[in-house]
Amino acid sequence: MSDAAWFVLVFGGLFVLRGIAATVVFLLILPDGDRCPQCDAVTLHVEGRRTLRWIPGMRPSWCMTCGWEGLLRRTTPAAPRAPSRPPRPAVMP
Ligand SMILES: [Zn+2]
Repeated sequence: MSDAAWFVLVFGGLFVLRGIAATVVFLLILPDGDRCPQCDAVTLHVEGRRTLRWIPGMRPSWCMTCGWEGLLRRTTPAAPRAPSRPPRPAVMP
């Protein structure tokens, strides 16, 4: 094999490995649960694109509150949180 072929093979392989390593690191740092990473509201599971379907354990999500859209890890849904403020007392007319 010529030197040029070895050069293309080695540096092409390193380029592909760099992309694979970056993808794996990106998938490892995705947050757990169904909460939005920006506003902590509950997200909805939406229909993903075909390219996202082959990634196991991930779910495409969309936040109704802030409009964030992205991937989250597939986990059990979070329990509803108690309101931060007590409910207002009913006003009598
Ligand atoms: Zn949000």
